[in-house]
Amino acid sequence: MTESHLRLTPKETDILGLKRKLDLAKGIIEKGGRPSIVRAVCQISKASALQFHKEIHGQGPSAGLLPYDPDWIAKSPQNCLHASIYFNIFQNISSNSKACKGEIYLMSYTLYEQIIGDKPKVLNINRAWHIGQQLSMSYICGTTCARCNSTYVSIKEFPEPYKFCPICDSSIDSTGRQKWKQLQQGLKKNNKNFCPQYILHTDGI
Ligand SMILES: [Zn+2]
Repeated sequence: MTESHLRLTPKETDILGLKRKLDLAKGIIEKGGRPSIVRAVCQISKASALQFHKEIHGQGPSAGLLPYDPDWIAKSPQNCLHASIYFNIFQNISSNSKACKGEIYLMSYTLYEQIIGDKPKVLNINRAWHIGQQLSMSYICGTTCARCNSTYVSIKEFPEPYKFCPICDSSIDSTGRQKWKQLQQGLKKNNKNFCPQYILHTDGI
């Protein structure tokens, strides 16, 4: 075996680390991860993230990002339910794995997809990243429902009565959409005690 003549800069000598990073980037891009998120997770350059995206999908990412909505999880029981499934997986893997944050993110999302199966993936991989970020910033938290004992995500600053459980506090309206039960009742009764700032998209998403 001849000695390699590759001259690697100190940054490039960590080939295994680089491979791990690129595998992670590939996994995220394959699931629809935006280049900006891939860059943040894998610490690769903008050019590399774009190039990788082109190679995997045969074209560049679609222009323009959807506006980031920090209160997405509270907008419908369905959003909350899917975010909660992901949250529980993420918490579980985080406390049982020595993998890096980015790998835990991809593992959790892959498991979420497996659990959802053929049903619509309400939570895409980009939103899943934001959930992890919101969790580390303590913007959202897990709450255990005293009725069904499930743990769901809610926005920390919301008062307790507005931290709805996606299983117990969900109702289906005449059009078949899932909505928050309390908000429906509050609106029907024109309940003055319901604070308008916490009434989120009652007409469904
Ligand atoms: Zn419940």
